[in-house]
Amino acid sequence: MFSIGLTGGIGSGKSTVADLFAARGVTLVDADLIAHQMTAPGGVAMPLIASEFGDAFVAPNGALDRAKMRELVFSDDTAKARLEAIVHPLIRAETERQRNAAGGAYHIVVVPLLVESGDWKARVSRVLVVDCPVETQIARVIKRNAFTREQVLATIAKQATREARIAAADDIVTNDETSTLASLDQQVKTLHERYLELASL
Ligand code: ADP
Repeated sequence: MFSIGLTGGIGSGKSTVADLFAARGVTLVDADLIAHQMTAPGGVAMPLIASEFGDAFVAPNGALDRAKMRELVFSDDTAKARLEAIVHPLIRAETERQRNAAGGAYHIVVVPLLVESGDWKARVSRVLVVDCPVETQIARVIKRNAFTREQVLATIAKQATREARIAAADDIVTNDETSTLASLDQQVKTLHERYLELASL
């Protein structure tokens, strides 16, 4: 199973690049989306979260009460690990299920924290990093999410550095302030052809 792990910092352009692969018929498996669905109303993690943390952490609609969980994680050092012990194996199982069902010559797993989190690197054939300067990340996220500069910087501080990500990369898509959708598409076209070739070896 030939697979590409696509990663990059917040606002680097992961979703934009992933969409250009999808337009070529490549199946995307989105780890963030899977994690989110798990704690949405009726999500598979919710009964386990309710029994570990109590019904108070379940919102009236059956989703995780995120604000409440954030508060707990902030004040209780063990809470994050307890939550991850529930959620991580479920994410792993669901990503594997979707990867096995993907078909095609290769598929792409989009993992925002691939470089930061444990064994992801070992589970993909190649790591593709979308790279841009930190200032470009900040400008894009302020525009996209109406975040303040401080909010974006706080998120960036929790992620791997640009250098660490580049060091972990097998391939890089450059998406800086001079990049256009056309220049991204050209890079994706070249990579797609290379991946098809590698997948057939
Ligand atoms: P990520 O998924 O890594 O957070 P996105 O693909 O959502 O990043 O890109 C962040 C924001 O920046 C989006 O609003 C996207 O449309 C915009 N964007 C991404 N690349 C470019 C670019 N080269 N030029 C202009 N806007 C871009």
